Amino acid sequence: MTANLIKVPFVDLTWQHQPILGEIEQAIQTVIKRGDFVLGQALAEFESEFAHACGVNYGVGVASGTTAIAIGLQALGISTGDEVLVPANTFVATLMGVIQAGAKPVLVDCHLDTALIDLELAVKAITPRTKAIIPVHLYGQMVSPRQLIDFAQTYNLQIFEDAAQAHLASCEGYKAGSVGIAAAFSFYPSKNLGAFGNGGMLITRELNIAQTAKTLRNYGAPSKYFHTEIGTNSRLDTLQAAILQVKLPHLEQWNQWRNTTAQMYDQLLKPLHFLGIQPIDNQTNTGHVYHLYVIRIDPTNCPLQRKEIQEAFNLRGIQTGIHYPIPCHLQPAYQTLGFSTGAFPNAEKLCEQILSLPMYPGLSFEQAQYVIEQLSIIVGGILP
Ligand SMILES: *Cc1c(COP(=O)(O)O)cnc(C)c1O
Repeated sequence: MTANLIKVPFVDLTWQHQPILGEIEQAIQTVIKRGDFVLGQALAEFESEFAHACGVNYGVGVASGTTAIAIGLQALGISTGDEVLVPANTFVATLMGVIQAGAKPVLVDCHLDTALIDLELAVKAITPRTKAIIPVHLYGQMVSPRQLIDFAQTYNLQIFEDAAQAHLASCEGYKAGSVGIAAAFSFYPSKNLGAFGNGGMLITRELNIAQTAKTLRNYGAPSKYFHTEIGTNSRLDTLQAAILQVKLPHLEQWNQWRNTTAQMYDQLLKPLHFLGIQPIDNQTNTGHVYHLYVIRIDPTNCPLQRKEIQEAFNLRGIQTGIHYPIPCHLQPAYQTLGFSTGAFPNAEKLCEQILSLPMYPGLSFEQAQYVIEQLSIIVGGILP
């Protein structure tokens, strides 16, 4: 086995950067020559380019996806005493953003098959204080825009999308970030569009929201040394924007690579379904951008535990991940929300069963095939 060991990292960014390194270096040089490191030209250009790529007019570059959520909610007028619906099985940053805006995150369980927020359960979590819902387009798959819009109209709530894992994802004719009044993106290096460090963006179709967000990210100052809000200091660096500007034209092709790889995984996994190993349901959604490719290992049918599978993968040179191993409501920092084990059964079940397989543009067909072949051998299923 060790003789023909193929290494498969969980993420590898060298493939995407290698062909555009010269262009990136040039873009960096241009910023250095201009010297406009904060709120510079490349930032303004990239804000417009990215927002338009997502189908809306305005972009506000900030230091992280978390800040994009916090500032975005504040710009919507959400603050102390307000409640915001969020899925229980998201990355904690979604909750952090809500709390930083001064509001209270109200958790809602997800569907077991898609891992996306359950809108029927969301209805039950609405109170007179509920102002907005944050659908998280988890793993790169959008929550149904039609259902979201219907839900928001029925209950008179704002939609603020957490699209940190869904750059250029689409569904039912909508692009991620264009469904609600505003949306947050992250440019953390391993996201579908990643910077050389941290970064994020708030996008919106409303000029006044963009203006308020620009004030909030810049010491609460709509003009120099004039402060209408407390705000914060959280801008996307011009250097990062210049790098992202070079990368953006390639994003669609990179997403396509992810999607093709996912279809390959889907096909190769079919013989293992009877062992309780299945991908998270993509509902034949062709606009899925597969930030992550996640499988579920159902212990009632699978001869091995997830932990054993992950360790066996490791021994065979294959890196995997768990997104995420502990649900938000059971994290020590969020005990004040007042939930205990059993509060969100589907989110809890997913935490125990999910495993993320290697996924990135540049992952070869041979590597993907090797991953599933090795999985077959590990679980003693059908040998290739
Ligand atoms: C990455 C991520 C964030 C936070 O983005 P940062 O840039 O790391 O602050 C928020 N929500 C989700 C779903 C994410 O995956």
